[in-house]
Amino acid sequence: MTDTNEQFSALMNAAVDGILLINDRGSIEAVNSAVERLFGYSKDELFGKNVSLLMPEPDKSQHDGYLSNYLNSGEAKIIGIGREVRARCKSGKILPIYLSVGDYHDGNQVKFVGIIRDLSQQKTREAKLAEAEKEIHQLVSHLAQVSRVSVMGEMAANIAHEINQPLSAIATYAQSARRLLNVATPDLHTLKKPLDKIAEQALRAGEIIKGVRTWVREQDTERQRCELDKLILAVIEIARLSNEQDEIDIQLELEPGLPEVMVDPIQLQQVLFNLIRNALDASKSCQRAKSIVISAEATSTERVTVRVNDRGAGIDEEARSRIFEPFVTTKDAGMGMGLSICKTIIEAHGGELSYCPRSEGGTSFYFTLPTAISTSANSL
Ligand code: ADP
Repeated sequence: MTDTNEQFSALMNAAVDGILLINDRGSIEAVNSAVERLFGYSKDELFGKNVSLLMPEPDKSQHDGYLSNYLNSGEAKIIGIGREVRARCKSGKILPIYLSVGDYHDGNQVKFVGIIRDLSQQKTREAKLAEAEKEIHQLVSHLAQVSRVSVMGEMAANIAHEINQPLSAIATYAQSARRLLNVATPDLHTLKKPLDKIAEQALRAGEIIKGVRTWVREQDTERQRCELDKLILAVIEIARLSNEQDEIDIQLELEPGLPEVMVDPIQLQQVLFNLIRNALDASKSCQRAKSIVISAEATSTERVTVRVNDRGAGIDEEARSRIFEPFVTTKDAGMGMGLSICKTIIEAHGGELSYCPRSEGGTSFYFTLPTAISTSANSL
């Protein structure tokens, strides 16, 4: 072998991409080691064979035609352009490849060099990415259910409408009671009727609220074994998307090997999403707060605790004792339904939702849940 030959084969074999040379009839004249690796043929099996051996139909039967078209017309379809095509391995496996082709003259004969880049890993990555994007979109649309402007807003508007009736009735009866008292010697007995009516309407309003809680509790739930860390990570992904300007850093502290939980994943994600949204809201309105931390740990073999810690201004003093009641809100555009629904969901799962102020400032909302092991033990 001459020096030039050695240099040539060193060059060919050092390439990660497959390289093959064919003549004007499509016969293979040289291949590098990458071609052997990619297609599973040895060099000897390929020498002299028509390159269509490495193609699936319809290219396989049409390749000779492609070649003669080019040689006759000089019109390039792939030469100097490159294209994504499919190739066929010895095993029959179809490979997505990027094929670049160049031509050159060897004496009077036109010959071609093909460079083959295996795209299978890239395609797998793209497919995984597309799958992940699809999952995120599904999650976003599920989580949209808790968005303040969509379903919950609609529900709150309906409840507000329902509750408005007993409330205006109460106001009317209270006014008439006041009128009855506005005389020199009021007959207290006449107050019984409006007061009874007020009590009746207040009970009706209470029933409406109770109805909402029962509705949330009894919604068709699909409990399934879920990996808590995956569930949390998925919500954080969405929360990061909704934290558009990245004003607040969302940090994660997940204990390794968290146990599985038996939950309705969508409901649990709604709870977590709501707590994170509240923590972000509280942080945005407070100068010092630049991050929130979501943590999860197994507190025993039977229970896990998830915390959402912020460094916001803390819970408004007036709202403190009623924070889990419906319609308690300190936000201009708030519905005050989030925490009440979260509590109902967590309790329906056999857990508890609570909060405490943090010594360094801010609030820690936390909930506990039974682990899947303890749930199945209890249902035996
Ligand atoms: P909304 O967010 O619509 O007001 P929620 O039921 O989710 O309804 O919250 C009720 C109220 O609880 C909020 O308006 C806010 O005053 C208070 N709150 C909730 N989470 C926090 C928090 N992390 N820090 C301070 N206050 C909070």
